[in-house]
Amino acid sequence: MRIVILGAGQAAASMAARLRAKGHDGPLTVIGDEPAAPYQRPPLSKAYLLGDMALDRLTLRGPEWWQDQKIDLRTGEAAVSIDAKARTVTTDRGEYPYDALALTLGAAPRRLPAAMGGDLAGTHVIRDLADIDALSLELTAGRNLVVIGGGYIGLEAAAVARKLGLNVTLVEAAPRILGRVAAAETSQLVTALHRANGVTILENTGISHLDGTDHVTGVALNDGQVLPADLVIMGIGVLPRIALAETAGLVLDNGIATDATGRTSDPAIWAAGDCASFPHQGGRLRLESVGGAIDMAECVADNMLGQSRDYAPKAWFWSDQFDAKLQIAGLNAGHDHVVMRRGQGDHCASVWYFRAGQLIAVDALNDARAYMIGKRLIEAGRSPAPEDIVNATDLKALM
Ligand code: NAP
Repeated sequence: MRIVILGAGQAAASMAARLRAKGHDGPLTVIGDEPAAPYQRPPLSKAYLLGDMALDRLTLRGPEWWQDQKIDLRTGEAAVSIDAKARTVTTDRGEYPYDALALTLGAAPRRLPAAMGGDLAGTHVIRDLADIDALSLELTAGRNLVVIGGGYIGLEAAAVARKLGLNVTLVEAAPRILGRVAAAETSQLVTALHRANGVTILENTGISHLDGTDHVTGVALNDGQVLPADLVIMGIGVLPRIALAETAGLVLDNGIATDATGRTSDPAIWAAGDCASFPHQGGRLRLESVGGAIDMAECVADNMLGQSRDYAPKAWFWSDQFDAKLQIAGLNAGHDHVVMRRGQGDHCASVWYFRAGQLIAVDALNDARAYMIGKRLIEAGRSPAPEDIVNATDLKALM
């Protein structure tokens, strides 16, 4: 069986390793358009941007691993189209016939439109190594940075820039930061952390346009105010990469639609990671998380080799901002009750999410114990009463 994997990120690396570990010894090709071998993305907006992590530590597997595993890793090569009938991928360098194809294409960062100044020099996104190479040259102390978007990318980048001595203002269009992913309690904790470290956060604030002729000079807000800006980072979300799936005529639904096993509408094509949407609790879910990319890729690898295993997401995330660590276990979608437990020390608390009385997720800021216990309770399907979580002197007693 000839297996081709398109996209060479975390999901591709995990899938390729799993295929070999589970006994696939036939031809295996991984094709990605970035020049680098698969690398970790999470540090790009954290330690790597700060300059605390070297490039070689980002790389997931060294060149000898790909050779030893007899995996044909093709970097800097862009796939152009998929002929699903002929079972062939065409790239800018050649053609690859396959028996099974996996799409691990990830997602692309959104930018403000060019009509709003989104293409001016000095405007940045954070998704891949080339983005960081361009951005880090501009991160020098004393400059004015405006971050647009209060999701994880914007918040992590704001924290790094502040540490490097820039003047940082973060603008969020919605009523609060992290509105898409967290409860108001978590937003407030993270807002307090940023304000204590000197970041100005403007919520409920729309952008009119970016000022500047060639290079950005300011960010004009809807209320007429202009924030001076030497550079701008746009952290306004990502869009799943679906263009290749369209050429194959695959069914799309907020990403490349798969069944529970990760198979797309074409029986020879599979998908995993940020680009894939899979059935979940009567609807569809597309997870934007490195943990999800690894788990789904491994599940798809097993299924390509003949198993029929449903993918069950075990969500976990983390975020480093300043000296704080936010750890998240579970998926909070559909929560109807939230309680907050104060920990000891500054910026130390945990937020617990319930749906119909069932504990479904926990956000823990500087509280590794709350994270660990919450994760174990969620995995075991156990739900202490919300008031017991708030009042317990030792959380371990809840186990
Ligand atoms: P995100 O989580 O979608 O957050 C984007 C934020 O920008 C949202 O709050 C959004 O508000 C806001 N926004 C959108 N348009 C705006 C505008 N014109 N002006 C001001 N605010 C605007 O995406 P992200 O932070 O860019 O991150 C990209 C992906 O990387 C996500 O999947 C994220 O989870 C992932 N990531 C994860 C981590 C981690 O787990 N630690 C770290 C970095 C990145 P609305 O929701 O109201 O549109």
